[in-house]
Amino acid sequence: MKSCLVVDDSKVIRKVARHILETLNFSVQEAGDGREALTRCEEHMPDVVLLDWNMPVMGGMEFLRTLRQRSFESQPKVVFCTTENDAAHIRAAIDAGADEYVMKPFDRETLESKLQIVGVA
Ligand SMILES: [Mg+2]
Repeated sequence: MKSCLVVDDSKVIRKVARHILETLNFSVQEAGDGREALTRCEEHMPDVVLLDWNMPVMGGMEFLRTLRQRSFESQPKVVFCTTENDAAHIRAAIDAGADEYVMKPFDRETLESKLQIVGVA
């Protein structure tokens, strides 16, 4: 079973994502901000991270940069979630080490196709 860490400050988004991911046979962990997400990664590195952009404490970009700089044994795939459909924003996320991005709100089909693109579904 593949594992996914859902990182979002919205409890509702985390709940929706968890539901979709569980129907896709993922084991799911959650974090409410980037710092909590780093702690989860230290405990158990997921196969893929579904990452929000705007969060308190530590946002998505800072989490991503920190994650990619750390010398973990393995690195997860990262799918960035954004509501902002602009090329510069997406480019910045890819440059920081994101593998794919998905527009919020996403449905099951969209998320599944993104997970297939990064090779975890
Ligand atoms: Mg947010």
